Order: sequence, then C-alpha cells, then structure tokens
Amino acid sequence: MSDLEEFQKEVGITDQVAVQGGRTHWNVGGSLGEGVRVVLPPVGIDSFDPSEMTVSVKAGTQIEDLNNELSIHRQEVGLEGTRGSTVGGALVVGRDSIRRNRIGSIRAMLLQAEYINAQGKIIKAGGPTVKNVTGYDLCRLLVGSLGTLGLISQVILRTRPLPEESIWLQGEASPKKVREACFRPSSLLWNGREAFVQLEGYGADVKSESSKLKKLGFQEQGKECPIEIPEFRHPSVSDINLEEGVVDVYNSIYYSSKEPKTLKHTDEVLRLGRRMREMFDPEGRLNPNRDPYKAGP
Ligand SMILES: Cc1cc2nc3c(=O)[nH]c(=O)nc-3n(C[C@H](O)[C@H](O)[C@H](O)COP(=O)(O)OP(=O)(O)OC[C@H]3O[C@@H](n4cnc5c(N)ncnc54)[C@H](O)[C@@H]3O)c2cc1C
Repeated sequence: MSDLEEFQKEVGITDQVAVQGGRTHWNVGGSLGEGVRVVLPPVGIDSFDPSEMTVSVKAGTQIEDLNNELSIHRQEVGLEGTRGSTVGGALVVGRDSIRRNRIGSIRAMLLQAEYINAQGKIIKAGGPTVKNVTGYDLCRLLVGSLGTLGLISQVILRTRPLPEESIWLQGEASPKKVREACFRPSSLLWNGREAFVQLEGYGADVKSESSKLKKLGFQEQGKECPIEIPEFRHPSVSDINLEEGVVDVYNSIYYSSKEPKTLKHTDEVLRLGRRMREMFDPEGRLNPNRDPYKAGP
C-alpha cells in the first residue's frame, strides 16, 4: 500500500478528523474541540524537474526541507513559515508572504492538489502544468480553507529561481517615496516613522535600486528582515495608529501585538461559505469547529 493510500485509510469514512502539520498555526480559525481524530499527512518529495520549474511534494513535507532541496538547483517555492511548518499547513492557512511582490500569491503557486474528501475518496484538482485548468478552480479553493473542504495529501507547486542577491534597507522615507524611487521591491514595511525595504533579483539590478534608496538616506541592513514583525494580522486601513506594529504595504496587512477583533463579513458571503462547506462535507467531518471566516486576513 502506498503512503497516500495509507493516509486515505487513516482518514477513513467515519468520525470527525483533522490533519496535523507542524502545529505552528494549529488554532487559527478556532480550536478543534474534543473527540476529533488527528492524522498525519504523508511526507516526501516525489519529483522535481528543475527545467519545468514544478515540484510534486507530499503535504506533510516541511517547507524548510523542500526549500533546502530546491536550493541545490537555485530554486525555491514561495511558501514560508516558522520552523516545522508543512506544505499542506501553509496552503490551507493560506497566508501570503511579505515577499509576495516577488514570489506571487500562495494561490498562484499551487498547480494541482490531491486530497481526501469527506467521503474518504481521493480527488485530484488542477493540473501539473501552468495552463490546463478549465471550469472552477477547485484546487485553489483549498487555499485558506483550513482543511474544511478536503485533507490534502499531495500537491504540485510552481517553483521560482532564487534571487542572485537579496538585501534589506532601512530609512526615514514614506512608503510613497520608496515606491517612486524603486521599480519593484520584494517587501515594503512601514512602522509609521521608517520604511524597511527588501530588494531582490540580479546583483546589478539590486545595486542600482539600492543606490536610489541610499540617496534618500537609507542604509543597508543585511539579508535578514531588520524589524521584528508582531504576531497578529489585521487588515490595513489608513487611520491605523502606528504607535506600535508594522504595515506590510504591498499586502495591506497591519501586524500588531494586539489580537484583532473578529472580521465582519456580509450575511450573503457567510451563507455562501456555509452552503459550500455543507456540500463538500455534509456531516461536518473535516476540521470541525475551524472557521476560515474567523481566521483573519
Ligand atoms: C508565504 C508564507 C509566508 C509565511 N510567513 C510566515 C512567517 O513569517 N511567520 C509565521 O509565523 N508564519 C508564516 N506563515 C504561515 C506558516 O507557513 C504557517 O506555519 C503554516 O501556515 C502552518 O503550517 P503547519 O504545518 O504548522 O500547520 P498546522 O499548524 O499543523 O495546521 C494549521 C491548520 O491547517 C490544517 N492542516 C494542516 N495540514 C493540512 C493538510 N495537509 N490538509 C488539510 N488541512 C491541514 C490543520 O488541521 C490546521 O487547521 C507564512 C505562510 C506563507 C504561505
């Protein structure tokens, strides 16, 4: 029996069940509650073709292990996370990186997903190449679903070249000034007083962009993000009091040490979400009590 079939057998066709990745975002969207079976997803890289720039990987593989393997061929996947985060966990939590301006959204990097549905069947959604999906894009619906629509066993992801050069700069200029000066920074953070800019790409391009920022008084800070990013994510709005926290300008996310209030959604959106969940999982087996609408931005 293959490890995918074993995973299918473990998920089974009865009881409430959830998949455990690295547990780094375990209670996002609500805690599971009592009596829910917890299963582990399969682990390992199935195939990687550097010239095709796609990788087939099992959902329980740690992002760090995957990126270590890809870096041998100077490639990466645009998934990030704290130590222990898994590919499947990052996809179903669905949070875009602060480097999204360079690496793209997490949805765009998922080409194909194989998952176990609430009836215990293996379903394949999407396709192994970039342009072969017709109809509804079911595969990407799984991104941000918190495992409520299906339990992911394996995915095919698009890879990207690793940047030749990567640096952070810090300086007292507004995000507007940075955007006017630079073509396309990978990240742009703002704490109300200073901007933190990540430049990535070919060495010559990074050098030329950084010289523009240095003329505005920016200073180079090395390869690591020079500012600590607080834990809680809020939608970024213009009247945020930036006494504390950091705005991720490109993603419109405000990171703060204060817990966010529950986001408000319209009744229509909530009704549609509820109906869709009931269609995928009429008996409420998959990741019960987790609610993607309570997960924050
Ligand atoms: C691009 C990007 C950048 C990020 N940057 C950061 C960062 O800088 N700092 C940070 O702290 N986090 C960051 N995150 C989030 C980080 O990747 C999380 O750690 C990750 O989302 C959770 O992975 P995990 O394996 O720990 O999941 P867990 O905490 O184990 O699980 C989270 C949820 O996913 C469900 N789940 C897990 N695996 C599966 C599966 N195979 N099928 C169905 N449901 C499943 C679980 O049941 C649970 O509901 C980033 C994420 C991305 C995508």
